[in-house]
Amino acid sequence: MHSTYTGRFAPSPTGPLHAGSVVAAVASYLDARAHHGRWLVRIEDIDEGRTVPGAAEGILQVLAALGMQHDGEVVWQSARKALYQAAADSIAAHTFGCGCNRREIADSRLGLAPDGSAIYPGTCRDGLAAGRSARSVRVRVPGPGEEGETISFTDRFAGTVTQHLASESGDFVLKRADGFWAYQLAVVVDDADQRVTDVVRGTDLIDSTARQIYLQRLLGVPTPRYLHVPVVRNAQGEKLSKQTGAVAVTPGDEQAALAVLRQAATFLGLPPMQAASVSQFWQAAIPAWDALLRQRGAV
Ligand code: GLU
Repeated sequence: MHSTYTGRFAPSPTGPLHAGSVVAAVASYLDARAHHGRWLVRIEDIDEGRTVPGAAEGILQVLAALGMQHDGEVVWQSARKALYQAAADSIAAHTFGCGCNRREIADSRLGLAPDGSAIYPGTCRDGLAAGRSARSVRVRVPGPGEEGETISFTDRFAGTVTQHLASESGDFVLKRADGFWAYQLAVVVDDADQRVTDVVRGTDLIDSTARQIYLQRLLGVPTPRYLHVPVVRNAQGEKLSKQTGAVAVTPGDEQAALAVLRQAATFLGLPPMQAASVSQFWQAAIPAWDALLRQRGAV
C-alpha cells in the first residue's frame, strides 16, 4: 500500500538504550509500520560533550536485535552542521546574540521552563549592553499580540496542547555558548529535511513541541503530526535516565529480545502478545497497535 507516512526514532547517544527509550523506539516503529510508512533512525549526537563513544553503535545493535529495521541510511547530526548553520542564517532576522550566562538568567527569577532551564528575561534581545559579547544565539519569541504568541497543536493521544512561549520558555537558545547547535533547532531542521510526517516520542518532550512548531513556522517548513507516549518511571517516580537500567540484548538472543519487547508493549497498553519469535511479535503487535489507535481515536 502506498503511504506518505515517515516516522523516526532519534536517540541521543549519551548512553545505552534503557527501558524508557525502548518504549519510544517501539511506539515510533509500530506507528510507522501500522501506517505502512517509512521508519528512520537518526543519531542525535549534536551535543558532543554528552556523546558517549560507542553508545550510538550499541543502540543500533540493540534495535537490530529487537527486529526493528530502519529504512534508508542512519543519519548522524554531528555530520549535518552546515544544514543547521544555513537554517539559523535564514532566520537571522529573528535571532540575537546573547551575552548572559546561566547564573544571570537564573537570578532574574522568572521561574523554570518545563525542561528545567530558567526562563529568559529578554536581557539582550534589543542588543548587548556595552562591554558584553555574545555567548549564545537565541530566537526571539513573539510578544503580546504578535503572531505565534500562543502555539497550539493536537497531540494524537493528549489532544490539544497550548503553550505561551514568552511566559513558558522565553527567547530560547539556537546555538549554545559551547558552540554546539541546540536540540530544538537540529530536530526541526532534520525532521523537515527528512520529510518526517509523524513524530512519536516520549511525553518528556511534549513541552518542547511548541518551540519546535514556532521554529517550523519561521523556517517555512511543515509541522508534522505529534504523538507523545508515556515515559517509563522508576519506583521513585523518576524518569529513567540513560545511566539506569540499560537494555542489553545480544544479537541472536530471541528470548531476551522478546522479554524487552513484551515489557515495552505492555507499558504502551497493548494486550499480551502470543509470539515465539521476534518476527511473530511484530506480526501480532502491529495490528494490535492499530486497534489501540482506533480505540483511542488516534489513527
Ligand atoms: N534525541 C532526543 C532524546 O533522545 C529525542 C528527540 C526527539 O524524538 O525529538 O531524548
